Amino acid sequence: MTLCAFPLIIPGAPTGGKPDQLHDHARRLFPICRSITGEGIRQTLSYIGQHIANFHIHHVGSGTQVFDWQVPLEWAVRKARICRTNGETVIDFAHCNLHLVQYSAPFQGRVTRAVLEQHLHSLPEQPDLIPYRTSYYTEGWGFCVSEHQRAALTEPEYDIDIDTELRPGVLSYGEVLVPGDQPDEVLFSIHCCHPSLANDNLSSIAIAIELARALQSGPARRLSYRFVFIPGTIGAITWLAMNRDTVERIRHGLVLSCLGDEAPPTYKQSRRTNAPVDRYAAYLLARWPGAQIVPFEPYGYDERQYCSPGFNLPVGCLMRSRNGTFAQYHTSADNLDFITPAALAGSYRIIANMIGMMEADTTLTSLNPFCEPQLGRRGLYKVIGGTNTTDAEPGHAIDQMTLLWVLNLADGAHSLLDIAERSGKPFAAVMAAAQALDKAGLVRANPD
Ligand code: ZN
Repeated sequence: MTLCAFPLIIPGAPTGGKPDQLHDHARRLFPICRSITGEGIRQTLSYIGQHIANFHIHHVGSGTQVFDWQVPLEWAVRKARICRTNGETVIDFAHCNLHLVQYSAPFQGRVTRAVLEQHLHSLPEQPDLIPYRTSYYTEGWGFCVSEHQRAALTEPEYDIDIDTELRPGVLSYGEVLVPGDQPDEVLFSIHCCHPSLANDNLSSIAIAIELARALQSGPARRLSYRFVFIPGTIGAITWLAMNRDTVERIRHGLVLSCLGDEAPPTYKQSRRTNAPVDRYAAYLLARWPGAQIVPFEPYGYDERQYCSPGFNLPVGCLMRSRNGTFAQYHTSADNLDFITPAALAGSYRIIANMIGMMEADTTLTSLNPFCEPQLGRRGLYKVIGGTNTTDAEPGHAIDQMTLLWVLNLADGAHSLLDIAERSGKPFAAVMAAAQALDKAGLVRANPD
């Protein structure tokens, strides 16, 4: 069963994330030929900057040493075609930017069909689809074509015209910090280096834009929120190299990717496996039929950099279908029809609920720890007609057992999530009980 809708179940979770608005961002960004450097990623960052206030774009020069890596040369592509010797174009990058292997070096010349074959990539099992291939760190050239297109290349010779350039330039990335009351940060990391692929990168860019906007325009928050839009791998490495001080403030983090298809969500745990972010994800995904939690492994998206042993940050990865496991992955079928407005909105709401939990979760200290406090005198104990609830807030009944659990576990060691898990009560009910008890002067939230 596919279930796309997911309610906002945590009070204070950011609202927003309208389905059509999310899909519209993806639609507008789809045609751009992004790569890990160059004009496409800059256009994408510029689009993001038009929708988020205080968005900063950084440029890091080619050759800059970032840990064990170097920022690569910048890649520019003007055209790329395979033509018949009579000049007729048969494969054209202008029709589909997946046709050219990313980071292809320039090449002009006539080649035999046998030589051309060595530079072609196709998918025998999926004959209609064009694959997405990159060659960032080995110089060469290549074309990606469907099996049908490949089969139609029957002439003895073809003219290749690849007008690209690899030259010293910059790697560009963008970020925005939405400051809260505390300097502690929640990091959202979004790769934006894939060309016309919708689920694998545009879905998460669209969701991150709307989350940042909702946080900027919503009520003041306890935590600070940082969104980084970076090229995959080298961008995360570069950002980490440039932000050693920021890293110390990261309390929770999420890599976002593949969030627009209709499969149930997948959460990949951080290397720590039991960080609060892992537990918030597990709590929420337990309420989504078919959702799965998968353990950390040092492969996949940029969590492998954030979770490298020198950092070991509490950063997990949220997806719908997991990278590499769906038929459309890294092919021309990962298009705007594959991602749906409803699925995008459902993913948005998972993250919004996680933010609600990050904001609310705290440990409590009882101000009346010796035996139970007398709740009746404080208007917190009422048994009417067998309903064991208390009207602490008008219209918001608080379950009596939840109050007792919160009071009992207000020992400075248990978080609200610990209390929810141990009592089996909803996190939102524990939040409401904690607020009522705080108002009655029976508990206080501990500073972090
Ligand atoms: Zn990818």
